[in-house]
Amino acid sequence: MTTVTIRQIKQHIQQLTNGDTDNQLPSFWLTDWLLHVIHKPALFLLTDEGYELTSSELTQFNAGVVKMQQGTPLAYLTGQQAFWSLSFTVNEHTLIPRPDTEVLVEQVLGWISTQPTCTSKKQLLDLGTGSGCIAISLAHELKHANWQVVAVDLSQEALNVAWHNAVVNDVANIEFIQSSWYNELSIYEKKSFDVIVSNPPYIDEADAHLAQLKAEPISALSAPRQGLADIEHIVEQASPYLRVGGLLAIEHGFDQGAAVRHIFLDNGFESVNTVQDYGGNDRVTLGQSQ
Ligand code: GLN
Repeated sequence: MTTVTIRQIKQHIQQLTNGDTDNQLPSFWLTDWLLHVIHKPALFLLTDEGYELTSSELTQFNAGVVKMQQGTPLAYLTGQQAFWSLSFTVNEHTLIPRPDTEVLVEQVLGWISTQPTCTSKKQLLDLGTGSGCIAISLAHELKHANWQVVAVDLSQEALNVAWHNAVVNDVANIEFIQSSWYNELSIYEKKSFDVIVSNPPYIDEADAHLAQLKAEPISALSAPRQGLADIEHIVEQASPYLRVGGLLAIEHGFDQGAAVRHIFLDNGFESVNTVQDYGGNDRVTLGQSQ
């Protein structure tokens, strides 16, 4: 059987990523996939170019490349995605966490840091938790600050992943509830949450961009009414759950900032503002209930 070295695979990766077609794979996907398959750190690709892949490594690498060419994202192949300072297990039942969503985490922590310190327990609600990336990152940051996080999702499969992620990331100040948005939250006292966050589905159902995201759950991505239906529902229904002066923070599309601010203002929120992501696009709108 012919042997294949790292040097040869690197040349192969270059060939695969050299074309100019629109649906070309990013070269870091191929490199990261190779590192995952051979269980080595990145430096190994420079220091050990003569390493010969075992036949099972080669088979696994090639099968992964074919899957990526067919549209499977790297994160679903490795089963992992970095977010905030943590690592999250993901699968086809969960959205793959995006760096832009870290802006939401950052903003919420910033707002919390401006609040007067008090000794009583505080509660934060994450609606549509998916892999749990937002809820677990926040719970992780707030675990010594007497915060309890409640994370809900409609999908039990997603909640299983989120629960696993909480355990692996050593976060215990969190509970998971299967619920369509607020529906199963009547067990909580009225206005018991200090903060409500969500990264709901917000892509317009007619958006051509959805075709590139077909591996991820459509229910996590798109919503009716130009993508605003779930955002509207979350803002309109927040009042019984969010304490007076509490924060509502919602991620949305780059072109939805003005519409989302209107929804917040129509529902009586104050100090409403929109924050940009690292690419300079409107991404998160925040408001305080009054
Ligand atoms: N909260 C998860 C995330 O931000 C899932 C969001 C979703 O499924 N729309 O990745």
